[in-house]
Amino acid sequence: MSSLLVVGSVAIDSIKTPFGERERSLGGSATHFSVSASFFSDVAVVAVIGDDFTAGDEAIFHERKIDTSDLRRIPGGKTFRWVGEYGFDLNTAQTLDTQLNVFADFKPELSDHARNSPFLFLGNIQPALQREVREQVNARFVAMDTMNFWIDIARDELIKTIGVVDALIINDSEARQLAEEANLIRAARKVLNWGPQMLVVKRGEYGAAFFTKDAYFAAPAFPLDGVFDPTGAGDSFAGGFMGYLAQADRIDDMTLRRAIIYGSTMASFNVEEFSCDRLRRLTPEEIRGRFHQFKEFTHFEI
Ligand code: AMP
Repeated sequence: MSSLLVVGSVAIDSIKTPFGERERSLGGSATHFSVSASFFSDVAVVAVIGDDFTAGDEAIFHERKIDTSDLRRIPGGKTFRWVGEYGFDLNTAQTLDTQLNVFADFKPELSDHARNSPFLFLGNIQPALQREVREQVNARFVAMDTMNFWIDIARDELIKTIGVVDALIINDSEARQLAEEANLIRAARKVLNWGPQMLVVKRGEYGAAFFTKDAYFAAPAFPLDGVFDPTGAGDSFAGGFMGYLAQADRIDDMTLRRAIIYGSTMASFNVEEFSCDRLRRLTPEEIRGRFHQFKEFTHFEI
């Protein structure tokens, strides 16, 4: 049994940023999440791939000792594809194409060992599929992500899924769109009324904000002078956040605050290079170094 289970997309992306482009870039919410979380906890992936997903693509899961026993390969199928582009505002991705491919009829049947994972992350994928996985797992703490694509086409399904998780982790424009509220504080209040105990709003280069019904915490983003590819920032944030909670094996105010800083730390590394390239050679010492710098950046005395 892994401490942390994730369901989400495993994808082949094509990405263009103002600084370069990559035609075939390993991506997907579950990929970025699990690679990031693997620095903190043992993690298993529930997803589906096609024949075009090569042994070279899959190598990253083995390098990071990620459990792939619930990663299904569909013979003759094509892997999920996403084509995205960023302008100088690196906080907003323009989706040019989304092909669900093997995800279109994916019906996850989880192994017994996946069903007993205490921490579960429902990565960005069809909200109905997120809920099917949630219903099969006997988890203690469940968080989820989503994006504008699903808010546009499956908002009612999505609100149902949000009703059965402990934490929602989304970006600020999605929080506004989802709640149909321009003001973020009002949007947060509305989302919390749908069921989750907590909401984490990712704000790209401006950091992250954390809301419960009676608490608030905010963290800046790490001040980077070179952001190269923001793809996966949200998932690597969630991977650091959930990976740290699974490692700590507790949910309290101070642990959640540290989890947000670990999330921000992991996202800051992820955006320095294309795909998962930076995380592939990241070391625990580098993570610790940046985590401590966050403390210096935010410390003040009264
Ligand atoms: P983010 O962390 O939000 O930047 O997510 C980036 C990843 O999300 C990319 O690698 C894409 O493959 C994946 N992605 C994009 N659109 C979707 C979608 N509609 N459903 C699931 N995954 C997606």
